[in-house]
Amino acid sequence: MKFDIITIFPDIFKGFVSESLLFKAQKKKLVTIKTHYLRDWTEDRHQAVDGKPYGGGPGLVFRIEPLFKAVQSLSLKFKVKSSKLRKKEKIILFSPRGKKFTNELAKKWSKFDRLILICGRYEGVDERVAQNLVDEEISIVPYVLTGGELPAMVMIDSIARQVPGVLGKAESL
Ligand code: SAM
Repeated sequence: MKFDIITIFPDIFKGFVSESLLFKAQKKKLVTIKTHYLRDWTEDRHQAVDGKPYGGGPGLVFRIEPLFKAVQSLSLKFKVKSSKLRKKEKIILFSPRGKKFTNELAKKWSKFDRLILICGRYEGVDERVAQNLVDEEISIVPYVLTGGELPAMVMIDSIARQVPGVLGKAESL
């Protein structure tokens, strides 16, 4: 199972992926966790990923263009015609107003081949991303955090432990 994380703070994940069960799971090739730096999909000199929300309101949101390019380059949905293959992947946007993440979802999604996780920052993400680009908007806790990186770690932790072989004893689940 592969986790592709789109973030502007890839270094936050360094300790998380190199310790404990997740480290062992990657060594055994049961899971792959890869961070992708959103700014790599920008074209301007400053590698800007943020802009004013089109609908108005305070602050800045992630622009759709770099996110679209990032998802396009990672997702099978843009590459293969087979709906069977495409169904084995999910694109998730973290949002405090999303669907609540549960252990049931963790079990279900541990059967996917790949999850693409979009970590928002600032005031959030251009609304068109939620409307058109992702499969699910997910909230991890009923309060607002500064970014989607902690939600991504929580989700990866809970899903990875459901992957057969990651825990020493299956009964532990
Ligand atoms: N203005 C937004 C609001 O009030 O709904 C808050 C945006 S928050 C500061 C920035 C990013 O953190 C969000 O786009 C999302 O990716 C992530 N985030 C914050 N709280 C979250 C939560 N409870 N569950 C999942 N993601 C969260």
